[in-house]
Parts: sequence; C-alpha cells; structure tokens
Amino acid sequence: MEEEFFDSVIIGRGLAGLSTAIETTKEKNTAVFFSEEKKSFESSSFNAQGGISAAIAKNDLVKEHFNDTVRAGAGLCEEKIVKILVEKGKEKVLELIEQGFEFDENEKGISLGLEAGHSKNRVLHADGDNIGREITKFYFKLAKEKNIHFFPEQTLKEVIIENNSGKAAVFEDFTAKFNSLVFASGGYSSLYGKSTNPKGNLGEANSIALKAGVHLMDLEFEQFHPTTIKGNNFLLSETLRGEGAFLVNDLNEKFMRKFEGKDLATRDIVSQEIFLQINSGRKVFLDCTKIENLKQRFPSIYKKTRELGLKIEEKAIEIEPAAHYSIGGIKIDENARTNIRNIFAAGECSCSGLHGANRLASNSLLEAMVFGSIAGRNSLKEKNEKSKTKIELKTKESNSDFNLNNLKELMRNFVGIQRNENGLKKALQEIRKMQENNSTFLAEKIIESALNREESRGCHFRTDFPETKKNAVHSVLSE
Ligand SMILES: Cc1cc2nc3c(=O)[nH]c(=O)nc-3n(C[C@H](O)[C@H](O)[C@H](O)COP(=O)(O)OP(=O)(O)OC[C@H]3O[C@@H](n4cnc5c(N)ncnc54)[C@H](O)[C@@H]3O)c2cc1C
Repeated sequence: MEEEFFDSVIIGRGLAGLSTAIETTKEKNTAVFFSEEKKSFESSSFNAQGGISAAIAKNDLVKEHFNDTVRAGAGLCEEKIVKILVEKGKEKVLELIEQGFEFDENEKGISLGLEAGHSKNRVLHADGDNIGREITKFYFKLAKEKNIHFFPEQTLKEVIIENNSGKAAVFEDFTAKFNSLVFASGGYSSLYGKSTNPKGNLGEANSIALKAGVHLMDLEFEQFHPTTIKGNNFLLSETLRGEGAFLVNDLNEKFMRKFEGKDLATRDIVSQEIFLQINSGRKVFLDCTKIENLKQRFPSIYKKTRELGLKIEEKAIEIEPAAHYSIGGIKIDENARTNIRNIFAAGECSCSGLHGANRLASNSLLEAMVFGSIAGRNSLKEKNEKSKTKIELKTKESNSDFNLNNLKELMRNFVGIQRNENGLKKALQEIRKMQENNSTFLAEKIIESALNREESRGCHFRTDFPETKKNAVHSVLSE
C-alpha cells in the first residue's frame, strides 16, 4: 500500500474541509481527501439553498443572534460555543465581503432574509437560492491558491490511533500518516429513508472515528426539515416562508397560525405539526403564490419545480418533512479538539453543543466556516514522531448481503420525528440481524442514544416520554 506523510490531513471537501484547508501555510504540507469525483462537488455545502446567518444589520446585535440560537437549542446549547459562533461568524462574513464574495443586494445594501427562529432579518444569500454553490466555489478558489493536495475518490476506511495520538488515515490503496487529522466529513442524514442530503452522507467517518477511540455526542438529535416536495427529496427552503409562503392543509386550515412564530416557528415545532397533520390523514401544502419575484429570488427552486411539472408561483405544493441535519457527531471543544491529542473535527460531522437539541436555520454554513478555521489553525501546531510502522487495512467491509434501503426504512419508520421504546427496540433488533458495517454500526448507536434519552427535547420527541427533563445533559459515547 502506498504511503505518504502530511502535516495536516483533512477528510472532506465541503465548506468545513475547505475552511480548514485555507488556514494552512506555505511551509505546511496539507492534504484533503474526499469521496466524490474531482469535478462533482457532491456535498451538503454545495447544495445549501437558504443562506448564512450573521447579525450585520444596523438594527441587529450578535447578542440577539446568540439568544435566538440558544432559544432554538431547547436548553442544550453550550453557550460559550454559541458566543464564538455569533461573534467570529459575523467577523467571517465581513471578511468574506472584504475578500470580494458577492452576497445578493437590494436598494438598501446587502439583502437580509428572515428564517425560522430568527427574531431579525439576518440571513445573507447569494445568487438567489444558490448560497452553497457560490460559497463552496469561492472557498475552493481560495484553497487552490495555497499549496494543498486534493485527493478525490478517496473514502476513509480506518484511522489508526496509538497512545491517545492519531497516526494514520487509511484508504483503500493509500495510507496518509500525519501530524494532525481533521474530520470534516459531513452528517449522517442519508441513513434515513427520506433525506435532503447527498446519498453518501451515511456518517461512515463518524463510525470509523468512534471505533478508533474518538468520542461522539448527542447522536439522537436528528433535525428534520419540514418542507421537502412530497415523493421527492428536493428541499423547499425556509426562506420561502421568510418571504411570505405559508403552510396549509387540504381543509384549507393554516394550521401553524396557532403557534408562537406561526409559519416561522422553529423547525422541530413545524416538523412535529406537519407529521401530526399527515398522520391524521391530512395532506400538507406549502403555498408560495404570494411571493413577489419568485423566479428571480429562488431561481433553483423555480427551475427544479418546473422540471417536476409544478407551477410553484401558481399553485401550493404538497410537502412532507425529511431528515436534514445531524446535530450529533464527533465531540469537540471550543478549539475543535476531540478527546484524541492531534485529532480535530469541524462542520456537520462534529458536535460541540452549538446547536443544542435543535439547530437554528442557517447557522451551519457559519459553523463550517468558523470551526473549520479554528480546527485549521490549531491543527497546524501539532507534531507527530514519523513512524516507520507499516500500516495495513484491518477492516475490509464486504457489503454483499447488505440492503441499505432496508436500513433507511427502519430509521425512517422507527427513529423519525416521533419515537418510542417499542419502535426503537424493534429497529435495533432488525438492524442487529443485518450484516455489520459502518452504516449499521452508527444506526445502532443513534438508536441506543435515542433509547437512553427518556425525555422529549428539541428534535428528539419520545411519545412515551413527552416531558422535558429539568436538567439538560449531553449523551457522550465512547467505544
Ligand atoms: C439541501 C440542503 C440545503 C441546506 N441549506 C442550508 C442553508 O441554507 N444554510 C445553512 O447554514 N445550512 C444549510 N444546510 C446545511 C449545510 O449545508 C451543512 O450542514 C454544511 O454544508 C455541512 O458542511 P460540511 O463541510 O461539514 O459537510 P459536507 O458539505 O456534507 O461535506 C462533507 C465532505 O466529506 C466527504 N466525506 C464524507 N465521508 C467521507 C469519507 N468516509 N471519506 C472521505 N471523504 C468523506 C464528502 O465527500 C464531502 O466532501 C443545507 C443542507 C442541505 C442538504
């Protein structure tokens, strides 16, 4: 097996990976490994539609962004992490503007959208609903100006840790030894039957990390996006509701009007209510017909709905929720450090307690930028002894008898928006009969975490434990 040594190894080329990579310096030898093809940019980052939140408006304060994030997080946010996000996030956004990134503007300056759970208009967007594409391309350009090696179609298979120190990242035919390793490998929402994520987002790197000795946290908190097109995984961004769209059922009831925040209540509340509506036999629709300039403001959504034969500007579209964002992940502190000396994590694969039990909309691109750059800076300080030990891939997975769709359906049916002990145990029992691999391993850990949390909080709703406990605690997993 071919072997090479790098100062910094980064797993993932989404916004968190790129943000980590651009912190590198000329003297350092940085490598970015990622599963997708060189030209594909298949990542959640690339697909992001809505925007990036930052308190840059004259009538806004970082303190208010902080308060909104903590309120959405249902008692489980780590406040010092939230403070870093809102303060450094605002600086990052201003720096981006300085570097020449073009956010959309209106006659008053940068145009700021409103999203669920935000008390102020603070969501910056680019080329309408194409923030993900635009910002990923911009960061990639910055990264290409540095001396970074990109390795496409390299899926991480194993991480070697000895004496609390990471030594090597092992791929199918290649071993990368390192001074430091940063996981920036995205979330695991595609473990669910209906998901907005790219199909590769199965959290395999999280499984690999846990098996190697890295701690994970809060896996039971999977955020469901309330509005995806029924029968299709395409997301209808929350910004549509920020611009005047509303939810309505087939009895013409605007059922969100009875909740605080109405159609812009936090995601957990909106998804729960849609779930109840659908379960009681109703059909649910997103009515976007009142939005002005819909074609210009949301070009991708307009184009996609047209391709599906839907006239979004004329007729309400039937929707259903889908698994969208993995709040849980690799446990990190405010320095993006894991429990292993020279291993870091950033972005959606990580869990710092930032989002608590429910992520505030448009905080995750910001998280990828802020914590990617913290991870990048800190990882450059690490030093490893160059080891001469030959490394072989220990775990060769054979997936010949494994049916991913069966796993996804179990996760969707029993570990979804509402869970209970019977369903969780049934899913666990069925998954344990399947051939073990990184996906089933992580799914089991998610279910065990959901079983252990005997309360309802944020996006974890247990029908058998509907109350929220007084004390909010994280669930930490170690192998
Ligand atoms: C449709 C959609 C719309 C969204 N809209 C918004 C929005 O408007 N605002 C917002 O803030 N957030 C939004 N989000 C969430 C946000 O996009 C993500 O949380 C964020 O982009 C995650 O970035 P990341 O770099 O951590 O991971 P990703 O962008 O998912 O990148 C993960 C990278 O890791 C690589 N990888 C994974 N596993 C391995 C492995 N085993 N080996 C090697 N490489 C691996 C992948 O190939 C990929 O390159 C949206 C998400 C989706 C899906």
